Amino acid sequence: MAASRCLAGDGPADALRGVALDRLDDCRSAGADPELATVLVSDDPADRTFMDRKHDLCAEAGIDTRRIDLPPDATAERVYRTVADLGADPSVTALFVQVPLPEHVDELEVRRRIPPEKDVDCFHPANVGRLVAGDPRVRPVTSRAVERLLDAHDVRIAGRDAVVVGRGTAIGVPLAQLCCRRDATVTVCHSRTRDLGAKTRAADLLVTAAGTPGLIDGSMVSGGVVVVDVSVNRVSGGVVGDVDAASVDEKAAARTPVPGGVGPLTMACLLDNVVAVTADAAGVDDQSR
Ligand code: NAP
Repeated sequence: MAASRCLAGDGPADALRGVALDRLDDCRSAGADPELATVLVSDDPADRTFMDRKHDLCAEAGIDTRRIDLPPDATAERVYRTVADLGADPSVTALFVQVPLPEHVDELEVRRRIPPEKDVDCFHPANVGRLVAGDPRVRPVTSRAVERLLDAHDVRIAGRDAVVVGRGTAIGVPLAQLCCRRDATVTVCHSRTRDLGAKTRAADLLVTAAGTPGLIDGSMVSGGVVVVDVSVNRVSGGVVGDVDAASVDEKAAARTPVPGGVGPLTMACLLDNVVAVTADAAGVDDQSR
């Protein structure tokens, strides 16, 4: 019988949205109006749906957005030029590029073209460097979401044996860095890891961002583990994470649901980062944090 505690994201997401909207008011009072521009290089309906949600979220907050969706066979030059042009546009205050990009597009070349002061997901190499140096200008939205979710549910990170499955630059790597910064002992696993189950069974905090439904089942976790399932995988009948919920819940102390766990907080963190980079660029004081 399922026994694990549900680490839901909706409540903490609502709270953070409230904070962001307060700062948005401060921004507007100071004459700074955010505009988010996004770039997607994909024709996958799931990617487009996720992008729709980002724009809906901003529309609900009354934030202007601009959306450029390019086909997956768009030339690398076209992608680089699109990002650079949006970055140079003075009315765009916040810029987000969806990854992963098609293989023929060099992600680093894209990252370099996002102006650091408009970067809402800690993509520019200078912002990554500042994050690692402990002087963040902006934090990656998904790792911020995981941190806020665990803190909101009073789940300790310090001292844990954390295993992060996935080393993607936008998600896995920042998550590992977060766990390390918060004093966990961290193991990072990926597709070439030998005996993944042996590694995941050693975790008392398991964070998975592999994008592979059913990757982690009950035989791969130990009793009392806290499981953070970051992945959002579209399958027939809805979305699932990486975790086989039924068998993992037999052993886990707590688990984030999919949907309704990390996802809502990621959206709230994106909104908060859009407002924050706009406010910072305009020199608006942060009264709320
Ligand atoms: P990614 O860049 O493709 O990274 C996936 C990682 O998983 C890679 O490091 C890969 O290893 C590893 N991996 C794949 N299959 C594996 C396996 N069988 N065993 C062990 N490791 C395996 O993907 P991403 O952009 O990080 O996204 C990961 C997931 O997060 C996706 O499901 C995405 O939809 C989801 N997501 C969630 C949110 C949210 O708010 N909840 C936000 C954005 C994305 P290699 O490096 O060896 O290839």
